[in-house]
Amino acid sequence: SGAALVFVATGCPGLDAALHALAKEAGALVNVVDRPELCDVTTPSIVDRDPVVVAIGTEGTAPVLARRIKTEIEARLDPRLGAYAALAGRLRGAVAARVPRERRRAFWAWAFSGAPWAAHRRGAEREAAAALKAAIAEGAPGGRNAGSIALVGAGPGAADLLTLRAVERLQEADVIFHDRLVDPGALELARRDAERVCVGKAVGACEWPQPRIDALIVAEARRGRRVVRLKSGDPSVFGRASEELAAARAAGVPVEVVPGVTAAAAAAAALGRPLSERGETDRIVLATGTCRPGDPDPDWAALATPGATLALYMAVRRADAIARDLLRVLPPGSPVEVVADASLPSQRVLSCPLGRLPEALRAHGVRGPAILLVRHPKQAAAASVETPIVARPSPVTV
Ligand code: SAH
Repeated sequence: SGAALVFVATGCPGLDAALHALAKEAGALVNVVDRPELCDVTTPSIVDRDPVVVAIGTEGTAPVLARRIKTEIEARLDPRLGAYAALAGRLRGAVAARVPRERRRAFWAWAFSGAPWAAHRRGAEREAAAALKAAIAEGAPGGRNAGSIALVGAGPGAADLLTLRAVERLQEADVIFHDRLVDPGALELARRDAERVCVGKAVGACEWPQPRIDALIVAEARRGRRVVRLKSGDPSVFGRASEELAAARAAGVPVEVVPGVTAAAAAAAALGRPLSERGETDRIVLATGTCRPGDPDPDWAALATPGATLALYMAVRRADAIARDLLRVLPPGSPVEVVADASLPSQRVLSCPLGRLPEALRAHGVRGPAILLVRHPKQAAAASVETPIVARPSPVTV
């Protein structure tokens, strides 16, 4: 009588049930160990970095799973995190008084990921506190306007192919400018209140010409915002990163590139076949089928020398010209693979002989972004056996 919470742990089902009934009658909340159906209350396991506490509960359904999650979180949270959070807590008042409201989020983002946290982690606690206090006195992280730009690779589509660093930048971002090809799953990894702007260039549309994007990301960073320019695949592969880097540097805005998994790598994974094969292909050529309007086409045949794997981006619409050119140096039976939507549930693979590529594309169509893979092995097997045309959905997990 008068108890608020009762734990029952006799191990005997009958006694457990009887005590449970008694405790309920007395108006208490009850936990019967290992009997979720008799529990009003469960006790989560915790990861304790006081004052930071993470509780993990499975409502009694899977204690072993809870333990596994606990182990993972234990490993991810630095043992010194609690002391640092406590220090942050002591400084909140000073931050509120000295750092303007619109810079506060950036201040705390810096405090928890920048130089002071790095110092605290390695045991230099005084140095960390001094850096924080200096920044508070100046009203901004490190005394600087905290605006920055990160050109972040979103990978080929599947959200779990983003790097840990990409996810970190997304979570820090105040505003995200993303391509049309970036999967919604990747954007979900950003903070809920981050602004998201699609600057995708649909073919033929010029609402977002590159100079407009360059100007916008710089203007946002100058306002002190953390800008993420999220690009499909890797930012440095046919991603027009140089214009954005140049614009940021010209404006004196700190800029960083976070690499990503490029589509050719995802296409190889989809096929279960590497891009380079020892003894057969010792060069990987990444080329685009779509150059600047007015530029001459690349000499495809010159790229496809023996020992080369060609991974062709933005090439499907140019397949006729590409195949015609390559047939000068490769036998018509040479296998070609087309991987569309690599890494996504809609992933598809089309295999056919080079001589029949345009026909196969017309017959089977390819929707979504695609990579064309052409190999010119050193030991050209003269492809006497004609590769059949095969189009298939290709399960993402094989
Ligand atoms: N920076 C990107 C490439 C951008 S160019 C990267 O590193 O992957 C856009 C082209 O990339 C598309 O036309 C297509 O050729 C290719 N691509 C992008 N995502 C793809 C995917 N999931 N599957 C196949 N090809 C893809």
